[in-house]
Amino acid sequence: MKALVKRAAEPGLDLVDVPEPVVGSGQVLIRVARTGICGTDLHIRSWDPSVRSMVTPPVVLGHEIAGHVAEVGPGVDTLVEGDLVSVEGHIVCGRCRNCRAGRRQLCPNTRGVGVHRDGGFAEYIAVPAGNVWRHPAELDIEVAAIFDPFGNAVHSALAFPVLGEDVLVTGAGPIGIMAAAVARHAGARHVVVTDVSQYRLELARSTGVTKAVDPTSVDLRDVMSELDMKEGWDVGLEMSGAPSALSSMLDTMANGGRIALLGLPSSDEAPFDWMKTITSMLTIKGIYGREMYETWYAMSVLVAAGLDITPVITHRFPYHQFDEAFDTASSGRCGKVLLDWSEV
Ligand code: NAD
Ligand code: ZN
Repeated sequence: MKALVKRAAEPGLDLVDVPEPVVGSGQVLIRVARTGICGTDLHIRSWDPSVRSMVTPPVVLGHEIAGHVAEVGPGVDTLVEGDLVSVEGHIVCGRCRNCRAGRRQLCPNTRGVGVHRDGGFAEYIAVPAGNVWRHPAELDIEVAAIFDPFGNAVHSALAFPVLGEDVLVTGAGPIGIMAAAVARHAGARHVVVTDVSQYRLELARSTGVTKAVDPTSVDLRDVMSELDMKEGWDVGLEMSGAPSALSSMLDTMANGGRIALLGLPSSDEAPFDWMKTITSMLTIKGIYGREMYETWYAMSVLVAAGLDITPVITHRFPYHQFDEAFDTASSGRCGKVLLDWSEV
């Protein structure tokens, strides 16, 4: 089968023929239809120092996966051939304290699909049945393909109650934009998004945020006055990884404010205002991945209730144009970029 493989510990990614995966006990084989390109995939392609210790080539990349069940392994009775599914890309150990308590997202032995083991930039992938989320057959397959980053957005946006609250989202990447949409859907009053890219700000505006502003030219305190906000943001969702974005968020939070931190820091020297956190009595929660599987349940319910996340998908490429797709994703002049594997 065709697959996008990181073949050596150096920059690059190759489309090659590899053997189809064998379906083990408790696993299912998925015929991949669409995959999303994530920042991690870009880092692995360019062989950034940040990912070198995680990846041992050769490995098939890709963890934002939608497809149909093609074969069910021995012992699997929860899925049948033809089911439309997405994949939870964190495979947990099932044996540690957190796994056994049902807090799978806190497993310290997590292995990443398309990072530590073969992923879904391929015609087929075999995964444990427990990592598969089944959708109604009529769900838009492109929406199914972005359930992984949508899950990051839902996990963050619902980390704290937002009903009636004023929410600041720093970073209007696909995840920030979806998190803003979830916060609005969940009843937030004002949802203000910041980004330094005009393309991304326009995309955020098109999805109906209260305001989308460039923090290098607009002062967040002026935005607050315009909106008649007196005390600061009640909830902050940090989705850029930019140290300056976190600083300005900490500066403008209301006392007792709550922050969900998802953006992975772009620098080792991310400043952290310890004093402000104490004196403003802030709560800060790190967010990694998705809750297994409460976030998945919430995602399905939100989509069924009419939350439309399709505007965040801006580009589609057939799998063999992967270089162009990766370059588009790297350029930042895009929302979510999808690869189509249906024509292999
Ligand atoms: P992205 O890179 O597409 O979006 C980040 C956005 O932040 C960009 O649009 C960028 O222009 C913007 N930005 C840069 N500097 C800024 C600043 N000073 N103020 C405001 N915005 C600024 O990424 P994404 O796919 O939307 O993911 C969002 C973040 O979450 C990334 O940092 C990513 O690495 C991280 N992430 C974390 C997890 C997790 O489980 N914790 C999972 C996936 C992604
Ligand atoms: Zn575990």
